[in-house]
Amino acid sequence: MNAERTGALRRLPSVDEVARAVAARPELARVPRTRITEAVRQAVDAERRHVREGGVDPADAKTLADRVAERLTRLGVFSLRPLVNATGVVLHTNLGRALLSPLARERVAEVAGAYSNLELDLTSRERGSRYSHVEGLLRRLTGAEDALVVNNNASAVLLALETLAHGKEVVVSRGELIEIGGEFRIPDIMRRSGAILREVGATNRTHPRDYADAIGPETALLLKVHTSNYRIVGFTAAVGSRELVDVGRARKVPVLEDLGSGSLVDLRPYGLPHEPTVPEVVAAGVDLVTFSGDKLLGGPQAGIIVGRREAVARLKRNPLNRAVRIDKFTIAALEATLHAYEDGTALATLPTLRMLTEPLLGVRARARAVVARLDREARARLLPRVIEDRAQVGGGALPTATLPTAGVVVGTDDAHARRLDAALREADPPVVGRMLDDRLFLDCRTVLAEQVRTLARTLATVAR
Ligand SMILES: *Cc1c(COP(=O)(O)O)cnc(C)c1O
Repeated sequence: MNAERTGALRRLPSVDEVARAVAARPELARVPRTRITEAVRQAVDAERRHVREGGVDPADAKTLADRVAERLTRLGVFSLRPLVNATGVVLHTNLGRALLSPLARERVAEVAGAYSNLELDLTSRERGSRYSHVEGLLRRLTGAEDALVVNNNASAVLLALETLAHGKEVVVSRGELIEIGGEFRIPDIMRRSGAILREVGATNRTHPRDYADAIGPETALLLKVHTSNYRIVGFTAAVGSRELVDVGRARKVPVLEDLGSGSLVDLRPYGLPHEPTVPEVVAAGVDLVTFSGDKLLGGPQAGIIVGRREAVARLKRNPLNRAVRIDKFTIAALEATLHAYEDGTALATLPTLRMLTEPLLGVRARARAVVARLDREARARLLPRVIEDRAQVGGGALPTATLPTAGVVVGTDDAHARRLDAALREADPPVVGRMLDDRLFLDCRTVLAEQVRTLARTLATVAR
């Protein structure tokens, strides 16, 4: 290393010096010391590399402190933060899937701040069950004999397979050996549960006799899996729930159906394709049905299992159930969500259902309101236009279904649109849109009414 470079490195400010300059800033008063030190160390290290590689003069303490302060302010105190979903994908797994209703949020806050009768039967004074708070609702809403709730649907499927089919065979159609992303694949989960996969049929066609022919002394279960995130189209045949129940009953083999999304209401009147609802599948005689709490149901992350009393009782007794146990906040949110179905306010109060069923008119009005809030300068820079498109439902629900939607396109060309996209993702709150041809499209189906003002303000800021 030459002398000049060594001299430059010697002039590099110390971590202490920069940290003191950062800590003195009032806007960072809430940022813990340890976080400031870590950010300063990273900034000083980066500067050292820069000097080493380029032999340039190092930035002074004030400049480095500015850099660190800007970064810490942008990142905010918390890592997990609310954002504006302008993708139009209503059930977006990476963006947290379903939003909770005001009542569900209120119930979570109440239960979080006080002790509760989580596992106490107040009448008998005996130990109660945490499932009791939602069992009745689930029975009445689905028509099933009993219910159980666990951490998520993946654990519901694992628990059901482990309980009913460990060391035994499970018959599944080749057309339903799905991967839903995030490492969840039916063959893998089956192996982990100790069940032995018995594939039947062809990728595109499976018939009732395929299942019947595969049943032997080792068969514990017939499994039907909802193809939540893809469709096999063309020359196809799949065995319906009722037909599968007929095959199972004739040979005394129970049927498990992983419904994935599990809607309690028929969404056809709102222009969405038919999906078997939970009550329909229960009525078909399926022994156990599993589905997610945070997909079409519109509640918290949870795995809901409904079905025959004896089968559910076996699941409840499995020690594995303790490992995938649901927590009290989820129970509070789930109870409030299910309550909305029972009292008929689900479509009006559950954000997921509201977004999926909102007429285009309302979506377009929000898009126009965003543009109307932009000042002349922001408009000149962004060239915003309100356009109509189709939005995906997403999140392992209704894979091919799209909804008419409206939103705002911004950007003068591809490069500008990409820069805007990057700046919006780093804004506070972050805004996530999607590229549409060579413009950035901010889909307003998933933008909440109370976010319109924020979205316009953020757009105006990044325009400059
Ligand atoms: C989404 C989905 C799952 C996983 O549910 P999580 O609640 O995300 O664990 C399992 N099976 C199917 C068919 C699904 O669609």
